[in-house]
Amino acid sequence: MRHTILAFGLAAASVVLAQGGGAAREITQVRGDLYFVSGGANTVFLVTADGIVLADPVSTEQATWLRPALEKRFNKPVRYIVYSHHDFDHAEGAAAYGAGPQVITHENVAKNLDGKLHRLAGGNLDTNGNGKLDRAEASGGYVPNFERLDRNHDGAIAPEELNLEIRKPDSTYAGRRVLTLGGKTVELLHPGRNHSDDMSVVYFPAERAVMAVDFIFPGSAPPVWAEYDWTPLREWIASIKAVEALDFDILIPGHGRRLGTRADVVANREFLEDVMAAVSKGIAEGRSLDDLKRTVTLEKYSAWTNLASARLSHIEHAYNNLRHYP
Ligand SMILES: [Zn+2]
Repeated sequence: MRHTILAFGLAAASVVLAQGGGAAREITQVRGDLYFVSGGANTVFLVTADGIVLADPVSTEQATWLRPALEKRFNKPVRYIVYSHHDFDHAEGAAAYGAGPQVITHENVAKNLDGKLHRLAGGNLDTNGNGKLDRAEASGGYVPNFERLDRNHDGAIAPEELNLEIRKPDSTYAGRRVLTLGGKTVELLHPGRNHSDDMSVVYFPAERAVMAVDFIFPGSAPPVWAEYDWTPLREWIASIKAVEALDFDILIPGHGRRLGTRADVVANREFLEDVMAAVSKGIAEGRSLDDLKRTVTLEKYSAWTNLASARLSHIEHAYNNLRHYP
């Protein structure tokens, strides 16, 4: 009986959460004609005289909500859709804008959507090599989305199930791509590997704003998994420096309503540098992981609310990362 009540309680809570998330969506101005919508993740868009450039449709649900809102408020068609990277929680939903918009991504997004299972975020790994993500292999954001993504309910997410609501790119680029529309400019920049290998930083030069998704988190330590998503820590740091090289003062993250500043970007980079320096030194001195977890305090970042949990996670993933990618 207690189990029944508990199960009902959880189900009711998640329904409320889903409805609440949908009802709470609103268009928020970033600066000038640049706006964002925060749902499960953030959709960012720039309105021009000739149409809209939109980054990260996020989900069919979010796109289905936003499309009529854009038509009503701005009366402009979406002309370009950019994906920050191929993860389903950012790249789903473009088809809800119809066949008109052109989808533009880094070239590795096309590779990651080629019908095979490629590197997944959050430490999810096809450990048994069957080409699918089995229920027992799923972690992080794949767990709450498992039932939805396992569309044929066979207990495993095949690539065609995972990518079902992700429109493939119409056009890709390698290093940098400039989009111009209605007299305005949006620059796509591949910062190198970090959380994924197919990342686009979306830069709005006139608005002095930059969208960087899942590798920079204003006011907190970035959540990390799997030895920093199997990417050398120095490459993460270099990718944040690529953002710092832009002329901006507003940072738009991939999740959450809190916009950041240049100082937030610098602090994320310095945090990773401090973790890397302290853990490298410890490894060189032959110290154990437990010893480093006790002594590397990172107290410079004590204002970050997630530091207590993130500190141990970062030290552990850095310890493994720096030994595997010295
Ligand atoms: Zn991601």
